[in-house]
Amino acid sequence: MVTYSEALKIIRTECNKIILHTEEVDLLDSINQILAEDVFADVDLPPFDNSAMDGYAVKFSKRNEWNIIGEISAGNYSPLNLSENDAVLITTGSKIPVNADTVLPIEDVEVQGNLLKLKADTFYKEGMNIRPKGNDLRKDQIAVHCFTKIDSKVIAALASCGKDKVKVFCKLRAAILATGDELIPINEIPADDKLRVSNTYSLYTVVKEMNHTPIMLGFIKDDKEIIRKKIKAAFEMDIDMLITTGGVSVGKYDFLKEIFEEEGVKEKFWKVNIKPGKPIYFGICEKNEKRILVFGLPGNPVSSLVNFYIFIKPAIDYLFHRNYLNNITAILQDNLKKKDSKLHFSRGILYEDNGEWKVTSKFTQSSGDLVEMSRANCLIVIEEERENPTKGEKVKCIRI
Ligand code: AMP
Ligand code: MG
Repeated sequence: MVTYSEALKIIRTECNKIILHTEEVDLLDSINQILAEDVFADVDLPPFDNSAMDGYAVKFSKRNEWNIIGEISAGNYSPLNLSENDAVLITTGSKIPVNADTVLPIEDVEVQGNLLKLKADTFYKEGMNIRPKGNDLRKDQIAVHCFTKIDSKVIAALASCGKDKVKVFCKLRAAILATGDELIPINEIPADDKLRVSNTYSLYTVVKEMNHTPIMLGFIKDDKEIIRKKIKAAFEMDIDMLITTGGVSVGKYDFLKEIFEEEGVKEKFWKVNIKPGKPIYFGICEKNEKRILVFGLPGNPVSSLVNFYIFIKPAIDYLFHRNYLNNITAILQDNLKKKDSKLHFSRGILYEDNGEWKVTSKFTQSSGDLVEMSRANCLIVIEEERENPTKGEKVKCIRI
């Protein structure tokens, strides 16, 4: 058995050996993907000196009256040449005419025919309200760094650099397989000791939420040969990750670990000193020049999802240089029970109250209670050595 931090270290070591593939996609198809190149400005941004306001462009002097000689609106430049007593009506974003260096806001002036007058008690400064060419970024400087997630903020920068196609990292393909004799499809009513398969749905969703590609392999019985066949077939598929649930503990019908071993998966760890999800298995399958990450998660729907949040998500985040775990320190609002020396990830509800983060947890913390889990928005981390944290104490929370 390893500690959680040892397990994360092992995962990162293996992630360092993974080669991420890249592809070129249309800019609008790159949304939420991770940029696989540094993107440089191919022109100055903005490409020309322009007005930051609606107003009048003038050549700076000490005067407060000008002659209006014309107008320039955005996209409709006209090559007006200003002398000191000339002003040009200009709109936001318009190119500044030759000789002008200052824009007077429309609110600060009065117009009488062709005469422009500065309002009383209004002042102006040289260079005011001009956005200089290249002020945002100079040509050939890096506009967007490799490993940036392409979101609404970033995509505008890419568009401004003329990137109609971008190089992104290919999405990971994660196959999901559940095992268990008790499992039935969700459109059936559970009879006797049967149970609707639920965790393949949560794992499929969480992979998708991370903008990767889940591949649903469904569920199979706790039959060693059936599982072996399915696992073998999965490793022949074009996948980067296999996530199984169930059958990874020490029960009589827990075959996963054995099968992984027999199918050549190199075990990196099995069992981590945590709750929930202690029996988690992690290994690597080298197949067709690929290194497939293999995660054997316990079957409990809460355990399997919590294990995804605390092992697989950090692994994917690490692979793509994303911020590692989204932690918040909060003040505990209830007493929690914890006597063992495991690291606990308890379900809680995190909220802000008067500028302070607080977290409540009235949950049973049973790893079978998945409806309860569906109401949580964080995992409360209770460190190995910590016992029975009480109301008022500070705890680390991972947002989920
Ligand atoms: P296991 O890890 O196979 O020992 O399963 C632990 C518990 O989780 C058992 O109570 C199972 O019935 C339940 N379980 C296993 N697989 C699933 C699944 N795919 N969906 C819902 N519950 C499951
Ligand atoms: Mg089982």
